[in-house]
Amino acid sequence: MPRRLAGHRLVIASHNPGKVEEITALFAPFGVEAVSAAALGMPEPEETGDSFEANAAIKAQSAAQLDGLPALADDSGLVVPALAGAPGIYSARWAGPAGDFGEAMARVQRELGGRDRRASFVAALVLAWPDGGLDIFRGEVQGRLIWPPRGDRGFGYDPMFVPEGDSLTFGEIEPARKHQISHRARAFAKLADTYFRYG
Ligand code: IMP
Repeated sequence: MPRRLAGHRLVIASHNPGKVEEITALFAPFGVEAVSAAALGMPEPEETGDSFEANAAIKAQSAAQLDGLPALADDSGLVVPALAGAPGIYSARWAGPAGDFGEAMARVQRELGGRDRRASFVAALVLAWPDGGLDIFRGEVQGRLIWPPRGDRGFGYDPMFVPEGDSLTFGEIEPARKHQISHRARAFAKLADTYFRYG
């Protein structure tokens, strides 16, 4: 029997304001009040896991234990099978300390050379309950990588990613459409189906 979230306060275990804003907006229609880990002055744990799920669990568990409220974390990235899954959980780190995604995309292109250009974006959402329980939701969107990058909407690797069945990159399409089909939207749809279906 899934637990109910409606009426709860929820900690968003992220120090990334963009992510907090996106997740807060997703929860608002369900009557869940979201508060960020940063606003609660919580430290940011090191992401030492070897999967999206493990890293999201580290962040969510750390926040749930500190505050006694359920906590949600997300971890996401670009997965390229021809690069053995890279950049994967290192997607943000490939952009270096300055967050230079022009350079990160150029590295993907350089390492890929003439190989298979299929790729996916993956998001893991993990909700940690104060008693130690964990619920995990994974969303993926398949696509292919193009070069040179196109479009200045979105963020990260969006300008080089064309979702399956489309001809525009995530950097070119309407943000509202990206938010319908994205990996994060798909993971959130599973979460909403679990916690709010009967609410
Ligand atoms: P996280 O904050 O550790 O989850 O890092 C996620 C990283 O994956 C981001 O910095 C981006 O590089 C990449 N990423 C995740 N989702 C997307 C997306 O929707 N578009 C483009 N890049 C993304």
